[in-house]
Amino acid sequence: MTGSGPPRGSGRRRVWTRRFAVTVALILAVPVVLGVTVGFFELNPVAAELLTPVGYDAHLLLEPFPDDSLVVEIAYQASAGPPPASAVSTLLSRINETCEKASITVDEHEIGSTATSFTVNGLLSLEEQTRQHWPVPGVMSLFYLYLDAAYGPESDVIGLAYRGSSSAIFEGTIVGDSFLTDAAAVTTTVMIHEFGHELGLVGIIGNAPNEDHAHPPHSDDLNDVMYWEVDTTGISVLGQTPPTNFDAADLSDLNTVKGTPIWTELLPWAVLATCLIAAALIVRSDLRTRYPRPPPS
Ligand SMILES: [Zn+2]
Repeated sequence: MTGSGPPRGSGRRRVWTRRFAVTVALILAVPVVLGVTVGFFELNPVAAELLTPVGYDAHLLLEPFPDDSLVVEIAYQASAGPPPASAVSTLLSRINETCEKASITVDEHEIGSTATSFTVNGLLSLEEQTRQHWPVPGVMSLFYLYLDAAYGPESDVIGLAYRGSSSAIFEGTIVGDSFLTDAAAVTTTVMIHEFGHELGLVGIIGNAPNEDHAHPPHSDDLNDVMYWEVDTTGISVLGQTPPTNFDAADLSDLNTVKGTPIWTELLPWAVLATCLIAAALIVRSDLRTRYPRPPPS
């Protein structure tokens, strides 16, 4: 038997086979599924935040997007707090001056712990048990443990930013130091100082010309809240009313922080770009298979 028509399959081919479409769709679905799972369903936010290094939440704190609201949570031991109202109000003033948020709320609450000494692991454990506000899409949070306790590894420490949105104030050490006669003033300064570290100061995120390289990540300006002795009882060298302001150099540094990429924020974009490139390569390969270049004549 002979046939006179064109051989089967030699006519116009379908551009999109089912297998091809499914492959491309699966690749493009990867970033969507990851984004929905991690973002919308807030997959394991506690563990994620407890792993975030200090300064790595700076953009979430400073920028109005993706979080246009901020909750300041202060969890205090009964024998220590709550912190002085003047300290909280001055902290809020500095937050308003630096962070572009439509709303800022404060949640202060007592915690049951009566421990008198903490390591970083102890702080992390206590935070996991007591923190009520974790960063979620749309709402950033800043957490303080306000403790009638000391920092075990270094007894002169009065404040410690230990994770991207988590700080501890060792009020027990402040009140117990005979040189720090105005505890409220010192508490105010150290709360703002640790907030400054969470914003990526000084030199944690980006290059800071005013960083004191003998005492990173701090400033050597005695009139700056980011002065290097503020973290410890050495703050007494600043007198009874230590600074509560970010100086002009710090404010300039914050512009650098805003413009500096933070690698953890780039990960989703890297996943998206990889998937788009993979899909593009598959499309190109498929088109070359279907429409091979004619041999040179
Ligand atoms: Zn410091």
